[in-house]
Amino acid sequence: MIVVSRDYEGLRIAAMELLEEQRTSRDQELRFRNLDLANTANADAVLEQMAHKRTVSDGYYMRVRYLFWLEGMLKLNAVLPELQVNEAEGLEAVSAARNEFRSKYPPCGRCGFPNHKFIPRCAECGAELAPKGRT
Ligand SMILES: [Zn+2]
Repeated sequence: MIVVSRDYEGLRIAAMELLEEQRTSRDQELRFRNLDLANTANADAVLEQMAHKRTVSDGYYMRVRYLFWLEGMLKLNAVLPELQVNEAEGLEAVSAARNEFRSKYPPCGRCGFPNHKFIPRCAECGAELAPKGRT
């Protein structure tokens, strides 16, 4: 039997997917703003695209949300009981997912929005994105 809290590869995948979901929601929201909603076919296509694709079972996403929370608490130097091995390892998996996410979607220098690597302007604030150092 697979124990979710100790399946670090599964947790890394779930973390990556949750980060992608957050990014996609905002990206689609920005696109939706300019969409002609009277054009139903078009709106349906966009809504279709918005549906998130999850590849592991629900327990992984729940565990990752906990690890995100734990990560936030540690950043705030909150006093917590000693970490268990599976929590420490889980945080490593989440951190690996964040690094992977950051190299795939480098954050905008002005607002921090994670943009696609090759777009010229930030989807969130419109700042020009330097092609240098974005590879
Ligand atoms: Zn920006």
